[in-house]
Amino acid sequence: MRPEILNPLFAALTDLKGVGPQLAKPLARLGLETVADALFHLPTGLISRVPLDCLEQGQAGQVVIVEVTAQDYRPGRSPRAPFGVDAVDAAGDHVRLVYFGRTAGLAKKLFPLGEKRRVSGRLDQFGDMWQIVHPDHVSEIGEGAAPIAMQEAVYPLTEGLTNARLSGLMQMALERRPEFQEWITPSMVAGHGWPNWHDAMGRAHQSPHDAPARDRLAYDEIFASQVALMLIRQSLKNRRGRAIMGDGRLVQALQLPFGLTGAQERVGREISVDMARDTPMLRMLQGDVGSGKTLVALRAMLTAVEAGTQAALLAPTEILARQHLASLQSMLAGLPVNIAILTGRDKGKAREATLMGLADGSIHILVGTHAIFQESVQYRDLSLVVVDEQHRFGVAQRLMLTDKAQRPPHLLVMTATPIPRTLLLANHGEMDVSRLDEMPPGRTPVDTRVISIERLDEVADGLARHLQKGEQAYWVCPLVAESEKLDLTAAEDRAEYLRARLGSERVGLVHGKMKGPEKDAVMSRFEAGEIGVLVATTVIEVGVNVPNSSLMVVEHADRFGLAQLHQLRGRVGRGTAKSVCLLLRSQNLSETARERLALMRDTNDGFVIAEKDLELRGGGELLGLKQSGDADYRLSTAEQLQRLLPAAHDDARLFVEQDGGMDGKRGGPVRDCLYLFRRDAAIPLLRSG
Ligand code: ADP
Ligand code: MG
Repeated sequence: MRPEILNPLFAALTDLKGVGPQLAKPLARLGLETVADALFHLPTGLISRVPLDCLEQGQAGQVVIVEVTAQDYRPGRSPRAPFGVDAVDAAGDHVRLVYFGRTAGLAKKLFPLGEKRRVSGRLDQFGDMWQIVHPDHVSEIGEGAAPIAMQEAVYPLTEGLTNARLSGLMQMALERRPEFQEWITPSMVAGHGWPNWHDAMGRAHQSPHDAPARDRLAYDEIFASQVALMLIRQSLKNRRGRAIMGDGRLVQALQLPFGLTGAQERVGREISVDMARDTPMLRMLQGDVGSGKTLVALRAMLTAVEAGTQAALLAPTEILARQHLASLQSMLAGLPVNIAILTGRDKGKAREATLMGLADGSIHILVGTHAIFQESVQYRDLSLVVVDEQHRFGVAQRLMLTDKAQRPPHLLVMTATPIPRTLLLANHGEMDVSRLDEMPPGRTPVDTRVISIERLDEVADGLARHLQKGEQAYWVCPLVAESEKLDLTAAEDRAEYLRARLGSERVGLVHGKMKGPEKDAVMSRFEAGEIGVLVATTVIEVGVNVPNSSLMVVEHADRFGLAQLHQLRGRVGRGTAKSVCLLLRSQNLSETARERLALMRDTNDGFVIAEKDLELRGGGELLGLKQSGDADYRLSTAEQLQRLLPAAHDDARLFVEQDGGMDGKRGGPVRDCLYLFRRDAAIPLLRSG
């Protein structure tokens, strides 16, 4: 149950005076539904107003406050034309107040002829006359009249919402904020000179430049998220898992044409140590594309099988699941291990047989999509779950996985997205991390070039020569437009264009809207080398393995995240041929966009790219939902996260492991903090665990 002190913050904004359904719409567009939402919507700028006695003291471009008296109206020639109010200041100088868009009625109401009003707005010079377009405040003069603030915070807005309107709403929202008991340790608060939450919130809404207030609020958010992850960790770790020890008979029987890399050996040991304990493993395996994660996973799964138990490998897509199956099968050739697949597409008899095999234990390893955790799927003895390309699975799913066995299985999560250290802690702080930081020998680094989209024809000519040599290529048309349909058309157009130049039988197209079998048909023709270039939207980006493909073209490369680009690039450079990645950039790139692409050109190291990317996002940018993966950071910028997370992580750990957690002295205040940031889902876990 939510502590009562938070209720005022979780009231709907429409409960506030003067906020009706009309206003609720634009507010909802900004994600603002409750009072708390509004409070978390912090200003990003500040207007300073200059009070003038008369216009002569002012300068064009200044935002001023001045008293004027309306003398005359200047209607436009048509109802749509701007409407003017001619007025004079105290010194008799003229100023025209201009209103656009059928607002004559409003203007007349605001400025009755012959009456003095205080106005504020941007002063412009128009010919030899002063003018103010759409004054942002107009007030009567005298007692009881609302003063115009010398400084006003500027909020991110949307259509149908003015800054004045939102500021007014914020004042009401701020009045509802409670005085919480402090959840941060006193030494931390004192050390940074932070205000308490109540004051921090007030100050942050007055100015975007109040660093202590902003930092304090960001810290709260990061701390809440860390505590939630630590609670999850503790609850999983508190459950008794099962100790799995293999005898090595299967792992050693694996016939490989190569030896393990040092990193594979090391990570393999970390995993077996974890599995041999009776607390469930919670480990993330980070390794760049091609670093050999599959083999590491297979060895762990074989250990589970040696111990007489089962393992499951969860892939994010159908295609990836089938590819995993194929590569695992080939590595397992000749070994007494039964491996099966289960996806949403497997139906009828085949599915029944698989379900039977899982229930009676004759299937040792199952590969599949989410379908492998459906209710109807019963395992005889599941002891290890491997999740591939984890970033698509949220915290909730991670928890759900563990429901499939009497004892929670060991969990190994693999990701090729090189997540910077900070974000890793921020979103997966509950997991232990292993890194495959060494590539198998023999991979040639990909040569990356950045080319303007204007040179499309040249690129196509180069592609033709490339195909002539008998090599293959990918051509990625990213999801750019808001509408999937438009994106699809873009990809189809590109395929058409290439077909016209290369011959239609050389070009294949796959996209997210295609049916499974249809897609597979194209993919397998590409794998068989019947198709020279595969045009694709991003949906099928990960996991394709065609070593003969040595050219990657990415259109609108600047619209991709760097991590995504890096993954795409990892699709080539898998064979012996020298591979090239062409990043086609849009025209008129921003400085940052240029830097980002240059970074891609200059390094092949995924971890370097990820760290730099976070840096390039800079201090100002909020993390938001998308970039940060599972967790939802609304107040914190990338820079704040990097700076404040280590302390928040340590403190959260201290809280959970030493201060008695939710039952300890700090439990009450920290509970408020968790609820405030909607990280409370983790609280009940402790009890049931
Ligand atoms: P990823 O980490 O991207 O999942 P994979 O597991 O698919 O990488 O491995 C990429 C390729 O490298 C595969 O063809 C695999 O057989 C090969 N590979 C894995 N480990 C080694 C190794 N130690 N030496 C040489 N090749 C290896
Ligand atoms: Mg892989």
